Amino acid sequence: MTKGRRVLKIAIDGPAGSGKSTVAREVSRRLEITYLDTGAMYRAITLKVILENIELNDLEDLEGMLEETEIRLGEDRKIYLDGVDVTAEIRQPHVNEMVSPVSCISAVRRHLVAMQQTIADQSNGIIMEGRDIASRVMPDADFKFYLDATIEERAKRRCKEQLEKGIILSLPEVSAEIKNRDNIDSHREDSPLTIVEDAIVVDTTGMTIVEVVDRIIEVINEGMR
Ligand code: C5P
Repeated sequence: MTKGRRVLKIAIDGPAGSGKSTVAREVSRRLEITYLDTGAMYRAITLKVILENIELNDLEDLEGMLEETEIRLGEDRKIYLDGVDVTAEIRQPHVNEMVSPVSCISAVRRHLVAMQQTIADQSNGIIMEGRDIASRVMPDADFKFYLDATIEERAKRRCKEQLEKGIILSLPEVSAEIKNRDNIDSHREDSPLTIVEDAIVVDTTGMTIVEVVDRIIEVINEGMR
């Protein structure tokens, strides 16, 4: 899908549990454009850091690992790390705990941002979600959305999501985990989570997925007229 001769690019940013993935996936389905979950890429690299026992301050080791690591996002929405399906494992608590510290490292960000920009350039239209999409990865995006919701609502959503995957966590536990991640993600030096000036902020508290998706599609349709 293109706007004029350009490829349509939609950026979605926001804190953990704000509904970005579910909403972006549905928008991509409705508009028939590519969907990219950049958080899954940071999670895959984090899993590799854990599996290989890499020290976060050992830059040489880390850069070597990045060079030889293959991350593949399948058509089936699965994510493969060096050929192995890690879709379920990257959502486990041990990855949740480590992903924000790993995502602070500039070498990791440089590597993944380059991959994300290549994917966008090769697409026929893309909706990408994460923390630095509007500010860093696609500052030229046609539409920039920032999704938010109260911490209580975000924790509830995450708890439900985890339960569906068979992971039982208490609400206070999930709330503490996402607060901690948001804090690191918003205060890191390299590409922190921010609301860019031209972002459209959608507070999804009390909204259903369908309502959020409808709102986004409405904004896009109006903007394309
Ligand atoms: O979106 P998700 O919650 O799966 O992201 C996991 C983590 O990956 C975030 O908490 C953040 O530390 C990192 N991330 C990032 N930049 C992105 C996407 C995710 O730093 N664009």
